[in-house]
Amino acid sequence: MRLNAQKAKKLDVFGSQSGTAICCSVDTGLFVFYHAYKAGTDKFRDLFEVNNLDALKLLRRVFHLGENEGWSMARLFWLTENNLLKNALKNGEYGIKNTIDEIVFRFVKSLQTYPLKFKCTCSVCPKLVRETTSDEIRPIKATSIYLNVLSAFTTTHESLCGSNLGSDEPLDYPADYMIDDRHPAIDPEIKLTHLETRYICQATRITEITKLIHRAPFIIANVENDKSSILELPDPLFVGEHE
Ligand SMILES: [Zn+2]
Repeated sequence: MRLNAQKAKKLDVFGSQSGTAICCSVDTGLFVFYHAYKAGTDKFRDLFEVNNLDALKLLRRVFHLGENEGWSMARLFWLTENNLLKNALKNGEYGIKNTIDEIVFRFVKSLQTYPLKFKCTCSVCPKLVRETTSDEIRPIKATSIYLNVLSAFTTTHESLCGSNLGSDEPLDYPADYMIDDRHPAIDPEIKLTHLETRYICQATRITEITKLIHRAPFIIANVENDKSSILELPDPLFVGEHE
C-alpha cells in the first residue's frame, strides 16, 4: 500500500492543532501496544514476531512505520488499513470520533479468542450443546474484590439455559421452563414483527471455557465505564499461568 505523505500531514495537523483531539483514541491505543512491545523482554517481543495472525502483522507494521517514518505515517496506515477513514468532513479532513474499543481494540481482539462450550443439564433440551467462540474478557470479582488472576479460563460456570422450546407448552419436559409471552417473531410474508408465546428451558447450563486459542502477547479486558470499578482493579493482573 502506498501512503500519502500529504494526507498524513493533514491528519496530524487536524489531530494536534484543531483543539480537538480527534486522533487521541487511535494514538492512545496504539501507544499502549507499542509501550508493551518496547518495555517487554526479548521473549515477550518474540510473541509479536513469530505469529502470523493478521492482528500481529498489523501491529508490527505500525511499530515499524512509527520508528522509521514517524507516528503520522503509522497512524495513517492504521486508519486506512482498517478502513476507518470513511467520514470525510466538508473541508476534506476526517472525523474519527469513536471509542478506543471501536477504532483500535476490536482489530486486535482476535488475538484473545477462546472457545466456549455450553451444555444444558436437561438431556432432552433442543440445544443440548452449543459451541462458539468469544474474545470478550472481563475481570472477575469475588467477595467484593477483583481477583488478580483471570482464572475463569480454566473453570466452568453455571447459568440458566434459555433455549427455545417452542410455542406449545412442553408438559412432560423434565426440567424447569418458563413462559415468554413477548417473544418477537417475524411473519415472512408481510415482513412484520409480532409477539408470540414461547416456552424457554430453565435448566442449569454449564459454560466451559478452555483457554485462549493463540499465544497472545497481551489481553484487552473490558472494565466498562464504571469509575469505581476501574479504581478497584488489581495491578498487575495475571492470566492463567505466567512467568
Ligand atoms: Zn436447556
